[in-house]
Amino acid sequence: MVRYYLERIAGARHLNAFLEVYETEALEKARELDARISRGETLGPLAGVIVGNKDVICYKDHKVSAASRILEGFTSLYSATAIERLLAADAIIIGSLNCDEFAMGSTNENSAFGPVLNALDTTRVPGGSSGGSAVAVQAGLCHVSLGSDTGGSVRQPADFCGIVGLKPTYGRISRYGLIAYASSFDQIGIFGRNIADVAAVLQVIAGPDEFDSTVAQQEVPDYQLSPAHNKSYKIAYLKDALYHEGLDTEMRAAYTGFFEELETAGNTVTAADFAYLDYVVPAYYVLTTAEASSNLSRYDGVKFGHRTAEKNLDLTEFYKKSRSEGFGKEVKRRILLGTFVLSAGYYDAYYTKAQQVRRLVVDKLSEILSQYDAILMPTVPCTAFKIGEKTEDPIAMYLADIYTVLANLAGVPAISVPLRRHSNGMPFGVQIITKQFDEANLLNIADHVMQMNSVKPSIVD
Ligand code: GLN
Repeated sequence: MVRYYLERIAGARHLNAFLEVYETEALEKARELDARISRGETLGPLAGVIVGNKDVICYKDHKVSAASRILEGFTSLYSATAIERLLAADAIIIGSLNCDEFAMGSTNENSAFGPVLNALDTTRVPGGSSGGSAVAVQAGLCHVSLGSDTGGSVRQPADFCGIVGLKPTYGRISRYGLIAYASSFDQIGIFGRNIADVAAVLQVIAGPDEFDSTVAQQEVPDYQLSPAHNKSYKIAYLKDALYHEGLDTEMRAAYTGFFEELETAGNTVTAADFAYLDYVVPAYYVLTTAEASSNLSRYDGVKFGHRTAEKNLDLTEFYKKSRSEGFGKEVKRRILLGTFVLSAGYYDAYYTKAQQVRRLVVDKLSEILSQYDAILMPTVPCTAFKIGEKTEDPIAMYLADIYTVLANLAGVPAISVPLRRHSNGMPFGVQIITKQFDEANLLNIADHVMQMNSVKPSIVD
């Protein structure tokens, strides 16, 4: 299996999905597992599963850079809890995956190591920030992969690539060893080609962890899918999302048609109001840039990675120079914006206001979710952008996050599953959201949706 994937990875270099491939090590681990099988030992639940890892999740003695020059040459001193648990379950980690610098972006064009290409159309982006993780599964370069989702970075690239992407409840998976972008939003997520694979990985990596004080103490339920979907679900869709002017009209028609199919299949689909939709992107970008400006202050040229080669600078000049050389344009933009919204004169006008919006969003969403099994809505308002299409207009790029940031603001679990192909040839998905810690239901509904669905995940051979 490892050899098969190594060969495929070698044949897909042009996609730029992998930053590093752990060839020798993965083969070694496979041999070890083979030896254990021949000794009659029982192996872990993910024995032989080939996993790709986003370059923001630490793996001891392996390079990690968050696709940034500022972490150039940095090697992890410890493994993330998610990685420890994968290894303990006998998964094989095959390499580290390209992404937007510090997970900031929607196209993977903000990587210091160059863009990742969408395997279905190499003139298009795979989405971001976990673009490498999405393409690794899309192009059949591993079974499943880890990503991180602060505002859509797992669901959006899954949508653009035609695969499954899960962002669990905030705190379901330990963030220990995940490089922080916006700590009150960040969550490790999982990419796969079907729901069962994603559920199997979640089962292993979720749960309490003494190294993360924000992780939930709740026990992890059994995520195994119920075989028969004889249950009819009470589903809501958000009118404000479906009729938002930014949504592609062909996609709107597809969602409307699909909601009818869901009704025919015995579910109820009801419209719900959510008046705050136009405020979620501004609130998200105020809060996440504020948190990022604080989180990224640790990269000062002294403690980690890149430091300027210029000599005879005073301390402030040294910091400035090292940070100016190490960070890319988008990361700088966000640190500046975040510092601004936290500054004494503007704190209440921006940061406090955005916190209030977050509270309203949380309350409204939990009110809807207390009446329905799930909310269904688009994942992204359009299909994958052309490379370069949005790089000159960051605001347009931010606005495309309108449907994904909601779940992160509210901390609820959400998944994107492939739904249809657009007439432009690209896939798009539907997003399913349930209440906090209701991943078991979320996965079952997602499986139900996938089974109803004529479109299969877009695995490129
Ligand atoms: N596109 C969003 C952003 O740039 C989401 C990123 C993420 O989820 N890491 O912040």
